Amino acid sequence: MLKENNNNNDNAIPHQVRNDLVFNFCHCGLDPQSHNREIYHNLYYVGGVVRDELLGLESIDVDVVYEGNAIAFGRSLPNAEVIQINEPFGTVRVKINGREIDIASTREEVYERKGHLPTVTKIGCTLKDDVKRRDFTINALYKSVATGEIIDYTGGLEDLKTKKLRVLHDESFIDDPTRILRALKFSVRFGFTLDAHTKNLQDEYLKNINYDMCYKRIKKELIETFNLNSYNAFEKFINDGVYKLVTPCNTILPSVNIENLIRRHSVERPWLVYVGVLRDLSRLPLTKTEQKILDDFNAIGELKSDFEIYKAFEKAQPETVLLYAVLKNENAALKYLDKLSKIKISINGKDLQELGLAPSPKYQEVFDYVLVRKLANPVMSRQDELEIVRHYLID
Ligand code: ATP
Repeated sequence: MLKENNNNNDNAIPHQVRNDLVFNFCHCGLDPQSHNREIYHNLYYVGGVVRDELLGLESIDVDVVYEGNAIAFGRSLPNAEVIQINEPFGTVRVKINGREIDIASTREEVYERKGHLPTVTKIGCTLKDDVKRRDFTINALYKSVATGEIIDYTGGLEDLKTKKLRVLHDESFIDDPTRILRALKFSVRFGFTLDAHTKNLQDEYLKNINYDMCYKRIKKELIETFNLNSYNAFEKFINDGVYKLVTPCNTILPSVNIENLIRRHSVERPWLVYVGVLRDLSRLPLTKTEQKILDDFNAIGELKSDFEIYKAFEKAQPETVLLYAVLKNENAALKYLDKLSKIKISINGKDLQELGLAPSPKYQEVFDYVLVRKLANPVMSRQDELEIVRHYLID
């Protein structure tokens, strides 16, 4: 994998530097266009970088594959230091002129356990065999580093033109159901649709899901898909039954428009607001914070007063509040976000001590007493609050 570059050569990849770990060959003083071309003879850009360049988009990652054994290639590179090797996958990280680059070997894989990571059966195969492990034709294009030639074994160029997502073989979703989510992600990012046969294969798979799959990878794709904050993606996710990958429990599209909600109230984890709608996320490997967001949401019942709303959401993550808006009571959640969350009482423990109250659990009672009144009258001053406390203590 490599990143960056910008020169005006037709064969160069117009991408920005995004990560110091990876970079373009041109920037380590080894310009494949001008010299040592034979060194680069077997090197190809592959996948997203080629697709994005042809679509006129910037890529985040730049994947590079060596037709043959990349580890041996890395070791043979002049002025390059091999700094990391992953023997089972045939990948190598080399450092050239102070910059690092990952290079993958062409490889063949089989899915011995469907839905889980494949097993590598051959390292250093032909490009034509390497292509078979890829997900969609638009991600199966190679571009020669040495000549800039595009190599298209699967009709990816045509599918880019007609905006189609097409799997390479009929077992594709059975081998790796994360591809169903990847298709959803790409359909949103590029405005592509599934070709009819691929859609049938997807429908077939979703009718008979093998839940023994790698949910770490499913979660990664859910995050990437729904952090794009697209209601359109969510509609497809629910209406096409893609959500069934996560839970067999039936789910219908909620009436609240989550995309608008998140636009107005941005959150760190938009994906969790979308996917939380399914309620059953027990298969996903959630972090403690993610699980707490869901547990807090589940624990909140009906909220009858401003005080109850305030107390329910005061310590909750914003995602919990948004889930409540989508699934339980939009008005209450929005009232909190737009109005109540901005209200804070000014008095603290020191004030209560100065008023002669020794520290005790009664403090919370007093703060809540003031809070109820401040929620009803947010312009209340600190002096007003102290006055309320005095009254409370006398009563
Ligand atoms: P992005 O712009 O999101 O990074 P990408 O296509 O580069 O898109 P990656 O996840 O970085 O996505 O994958 C790089 C390449 O690896 C893909 O273009 C595709 O050829 C292949 N690939 C990734 N995931 C899968 C998968 N689940 N099944 C088959 N091939 C895959």
